[in-house]
This record gives sequence, C-alpha cells and structure tokens, in this order.
Amino acid sequence: MPAHTAGISDEAGFDLVVLGSGAAGLAAALVGGVHGARVLLAEKAEVIGGTTAMSGGCTWVPANHHMLAAGLSDSADDALRYIRAVAPPGWAEVEEPLWQAFVAQAPAMLAFVEQHSASAASPTRTPTRPVRGCAAATCRRGRCASRGSGRGGGASGPRRCRTA
Ligand SMILES: Cc1cc2nc3c(=O)[nH]c(=O)nc-3n(C[C@H](O)[C@H](O)[C@H](O)COP(=O)(O)OP(=O)(O)OC[C@H]3O[C@@H](n4cnc5c(N)ncnc54)[C@H](O)[C@@H]3O)c2cc1C
Repeated sequence: MPAHTAGISDEAGFDLVVLGSGAAGLAAALVGGVHGARVLLAEKAEVIGGTTAMSGGCTWVPANHHMLAAGLSDSADDALRYIRAVAPPGWAEVEEPLWQAFVAQAPAMLAFVEQHSASAASPTRTPTRPVRGCAAATCRRGRCASRGSGRGGGASGPRRCRTA
C-alpha cells in the first residue's frame, strides 16, 4: 500500500502523533489541535474513518446538553444505574472506573467536539431501549445524539437487564 506523506518534510516536528482516524483518533487530534499542539494524524487504511465511518452514528451521551436544553431530565447517576443494570455479570469489577469516568466526562466531550468542529448532533427522539427488568427511570429519551434528523439509533441497546 502506498504511503501518502506529501507535504510532510523530514524536519517536520509534531507534539502529538495520533494513529487511527476513527472517532477516538479524531477526537484526540481535535483536543491536541485546540490546545495548540502540532498534530500528525496517521491512518493506515486508504480512507479515513475506520469502523466509525460504518457505524450507526449514535453517540450515547447521557445528560448531554441537547437533551437538557430540550427539558429532558437526566443525570450521571441514572446513566450509571442503567449501565450497571445492563452490563453482563462480572464486568463491573473491571469496568466500573471507566463507567464512572464516562458518565462524568461524556457530556463535556460532546459539547467540546461540537464547539470545535463542524460536527453538530441532535438527540434522537426514541429512548434508550427499555430493557426487561430495568427500572424505566434509568432509560432516557435523548441520550443518543446523532447527526441528522435525530430519528435513528436511539432504540439500540441491550435487550435484557441483569438486575432490576
Ligand atoms: C455496523 C456498526 C454499527 C455501529 N454503530 C454504532 C453506533 O451507532 N453507536 C456507537 O456508539 N457505536 C457503534 N458502533 C461501534 C463503533 O463504530 C466503534 O466502537 C467505534 O467506531 C470505534 O472507534 P475507534 O476510533 O476506537 O476505532 P475505529 O473507528 O475503528 O478507528 C480505528 C482506526 O485506526 C486505524 N489504525 C489501526 N491501526 C493503525 C496503525 N497502526 N496506524 C495507523 N492507523 C491505524 C484503522 O485503520 C482505523 O481507521 C458500530 C459498529 C459497527 C461495526
């Protein structure tokens, strides 16, 4: 596969080198760029986007600013209860710190990406799929933010709750 490195001289210096142009890589590169870093984003495939480019495009962000502005209530605690309820047995032992970081930081992440890029999301109208045995209160309409009409994506999710 040919490497496309036109315009990058041997002397070019970078503060941040990001490998991969999916959502994670693009977000990392965006953060670096906004904070003044010279960023090199390298992609091994012929096209950018990775798996992200093939995804349904739903960014699941509880308590995101769009839903709160629309008067939809939500909280990090409710989101955490939902995640714990739908996660397979044993996952919490490893994942709990990540879940906590996610519900705490995801709303700011979405706002940051929208503020500093051309990406604008709108919350989907459908709720996170109510799962059998889950307290309905932990499911919230508007958690799934996507580009476009806001019709898709929101109903995805696990079908069964592990605990009530
Ligand atoms: C059909 C489908 C639908 C989905 N729908 C949703 C959805 O609606 N909502 C949701 O939240 N998630 C969805 N997902 C999951 C979601 O797409 C992935 O979790 C997400 O895209 C992963 O992002 P990423 O940046 O970590 O990886 P990727 O988007 O896969 O990006 C990784 C990139 O790194 C590149 N790369 C790898 N190694 C190197 C290297 N050494 N050097 C340079 N580049 C490298 C790859 O080529 C790739 O471009 C869906 C997934 C699929 C398959």
